Amino acid sequence: MRIDVITIFPEYLAPLELSLIGKARRDGLVDLRIHQLRDFTHDRHRTVDDTPLGGGAGMVMKPEPWAEAFAAVLADGRAALGEDASPLVIFPNPAGEPFAQATAQDWSTRPWLVFACGRYEGIDERVYEHLADAGIEVALASLGDYVLNGGEVAVLAITEAVVRLVPGVVGNAASLVEESHSDGLLEYPLYTRPAAWTGPDGTVREVPEVLLSGNHARIAAWRAEQSLARTAERRPDLISCREGAQQHGAGDAP
Ligand code: SAM
Repeated sequence: MRIDVITIFPEYLAPLELSLIGKARRDGLVDLRIHQLRDFTHDRHRTVDDTPLGGGAGMVMKPEPWAEAFAAVLADGRAALGEDASPLVIFPNPAGEPFAQATAQDWSTRPWLVFACGRYEGIDERVYEHLADAGIEVALASLGDYVLNGGEVAVLAITEAVVRLVPGVVGNAASLVEESHSDGLLEYPLYTRPAAWTGPDGTVREVPEVLLSGNHARIAAWRAEQSLARTAERRPDLISCREGAQQHGAGDAP
């Protein structure tokens, strides 16, 4: 998989050199390149923003550097991946579609993602139109219903969620299957040794007996029950969503 990130703060993305994502890059599973948007300006101050037309607070990112940056990244990517290659261009945006595990699953199968990090009040609207007119697939992705200062933190989160699903990145692929949100539910409670733990207050806390039983069917049933109960308690919205999807799926069956 190839990932390009365009930003005015390349340093913000340094964590992508660490841990599993860093290893995936070193192992050649992900070719991740970071580009400085200011390299595509032509004035002494390397200006990427201007005041909003129509008035209002803050600054808006100018279209020209973005168009040049996309042209350069597209040319570079196509030289590496083939002239017919076309990326999915993702704009982190609080007004975008909520980013979820299903989105991560989908994007982890894409050969090429390009992230465009907005700053200030955001990017001139014509940049999105320009890409769409050029036949480039564009997605606006929101990390949640709150406003960050820029797209970089969203790129860190989205890249981590996507890249860990690329085959070979997480050593034990089975660990991806039972995670929260993989089947629409939250994960069951986790325990490790010691089976009886004496906390700093002197209280002895024991793990549920079933986990020491060695009976895999009982353990699986207990975990499924816990997963459902936890989701119902903490995220009832996920249960209704899942029931809706199941009913819809049943109705659609031939
Ligand atoms: N004026 C914009 C609005 O009201 O929708 C907010 C701009 S925000 C200060 C600057 C940049 O941060 C955005 O262009 C986007 O790239 C990023 N950003 C902010 N909140 C985000 C969120 N919840 N999810 C994804 N990206 C976000």
